[in-house]
Amino acid sequence: MSKLRIKKGDQVVILAGRDKGARGKILNVDPSKKRVWVEKVNFVKRHHRQSEKYPQGGIIEKEASIDISNVRLICPRCGEITTTRHIVKDDATRPRVCAKCGEELE
Ligand SMILES: [Zn+2]
Repeated sequence: MSKLRIKKGDQVVILAGRDKGARGKILNVDPSKKRVWVEKVNFVKRHHRQSEKYPQGGIIEKEASIDISNVRLICPRCGEITTTRHIVKDDATRPRVCAKCGEELE
């Protein structure tokens, strides 16, 4: 089982690198490579020719993935930088909960 505890849509803070301290939303997760894409973090410039997808052509700035160990979840309930854990409820669901405030995150 994957130990990933970050999901698409989570708010995270960046712990290392050029964008250290930045906050943003998880756009995508690659569990096999343990990489995440965070909104407006680790922008890289790519050159594109004019095409249907890029009608202006030229330089496109786009997020590049960063290692999942370099992000930490921001709890949407208490606003603290936190980790999550899973609890098992009576109905056998296993929601993520904030390790700081104990609130369910889903
Ligand atoms: Zn919390």
